[in-house]
Amino acid sequence: MLLGTTTEATSSTMDELFRGAEWESFEAALGGSPHERWMRLALEEARAAAAEDEVPVGAVILAGGRVIASGHNQREQLADPTAHAEMIALTQAAASLGSWRLEQCVLYVTLEPCPMCAGAILQARVPCVVWGAADPKAGAVESLYRLFDDRRLNHRVEHVGHVLETECGSLLTEFFRNKRG
Ligand SMILES: [Zn+2]
Repeated sequence: MLLGTTTEATSSTMDELFRGAEWESFEAALGGSPHERWMRLALEEARAAAAEDEVPVGAVILAGGRVIASGHNQREQLADPTAHAEMIALTQAAASLGSWRLEQCVLYVTLEPCPMCAGAILQARVPCVVWGAADPKAGAVESLYRLFDDRRLNHRVEHVGHVLETECGSLLTEFFRNKRG
């Protein structure tokens, strides 16, 4: 199966995952392309992180066309190096489904996942990830590593990157600029 790296890419698996019961109403409620609509929810989470003086990264997880988990980076507040947006959302999604297997889920995150989060996504068997801004310093999907495409691992993740990249990236740029200023 072809692995997508553009916003145009869709796959049969992804189409299937989006064919949820709640999908129609969400589609009506939000504007833009499907990936952009959900990424905007992740962006809201990222803004919540910025408001808490945390590096602004946000994530949401969908199952059956509805949001079952959302989280943002809370590394400072929780004094926890693992408290990345994706990790918090994965834990929440697993609790919501009562299973560590998140095989029917799609994860949206505003920043390219790091090696820890990509590892957790693989462990959770998440089939699809949509991410926003590339992370040249820690990205493990295409920037530094390509963990989701690594055939040595027993699970592969379809991924679509650079969705609302400018919005996702500028949130981070502004945050660090303010920190320095
Ligand atoms: Zn991470």
